[in-house]
Amino acid sequence: MPSFNVRLKNRQEIAAATMAFLLQKPANFQFKAGQTIDMTLIDPPETDGEGNTRTFTIASPPHASELAVATRMRDTAFKRTLRKLALGAEIKIDGPFGDFTLSATSTRPAAFLAGGIGITPFRSIILDATRQKVSRRLFLFYSNRRPEDAAFLEELEGTRKENPNYQLVATMTGPEKSRAWSGPTGYINQKMLADALGSLSGPIYYLAGPPGMVAAMRQMLATAGVSDDDIRTEEFAGYE
Ligand SMILES: Cc1cc2nc3c(=O)[nH]c(=O)nc-3n(C[C@H](O)[C@H](O)[C@H](O)COP(=O)(O)OP(=O)(O)OC[C@H]3O[C@@H](n4cnc5c(N)ncnc54)[C@H](O)[C@@H]3O)c2cc1C
Repeated sequence: MPSFNVRLKNRQEIAAATMAFLLQKPANFQFKAGQTIDMTLIDPPETDGEGNTRTFTIASPPHASELAVATRMRDTAFKRTLRKLALGAEIKIDGPFGDFTLSATSTRPAAFLAGGIGITPFRSIILDATRQKVSRRLFLFYSNRRPEDAAFLEELEGTRKENPNYQLVATMTGPEKSRAWSGPTGYINQKMLADALGSLSGPIYYLAGPPGMVAAMRQMLATAGVSDDDIRTEEFAGYE
């Protein structure tokens, strides 16, 4: 698999304790929306038991001029280093990897269930499908504790105006600790899905987020009678 040294072009706080990092996109770097890269810090000043490499989903769509990743900024050696890395410094990337992508042949609706930072593959997929004018129906169910934790939320809301085939249901599991939120609350559940989708057996489901969230959503879908064959998952190992 190809390996590249690329420059850090920019970084930006995009939600509470959540940053996006923009990386130079190597010439001829091709990937499908939903794929990942492995990022390795080069000679970092500190390291820990998890080493100098992490897997991140490419949060930007293939047509973007740079590669974006977005992550929760926890207090680990890797992320302390990343937060302070000088703009223009080099990072090694390997990839792209993974098959958590939208099939080009299926016409069935896609239901994306994102927990927190699990939004990254869906941002790439939705921006890509919007640009390509894909006629497939796309439903995004996006769960966070509070609105301020929800990376890319405004952009994902705004994209509805550009893509008539795309719907967004954002829900907050702990909005009482937060700024005003008048939308849905609580975990993504069968009723929330049915209200938007009608029949739960129509779509292909894509689940992404911390392993515990992915397991809970898979269980919820199984209880609702959704076939395992209609469920794709991406577990963000490293989060609880
Ligand atoms: C296919 C795939 C795609 C992924 N895509 C993304 C992505 O787009 N964005 C993203 O952010 N991550 C993504 N991840 C997860 C990412 O690779 C890291 O594991 C994650 O960001 C955690 O890294 P870390 O440095 O914070 O913690 P690590 O140092 O990797 O933590 C290791 C362990 O320490 C514990 N830990 C560390 N810090 C804390 C803390 N503050 N609180 C509680 N426990 C802690 C955790 O339990 C964890 O098990 C992806 C993973 C996979 C496998």
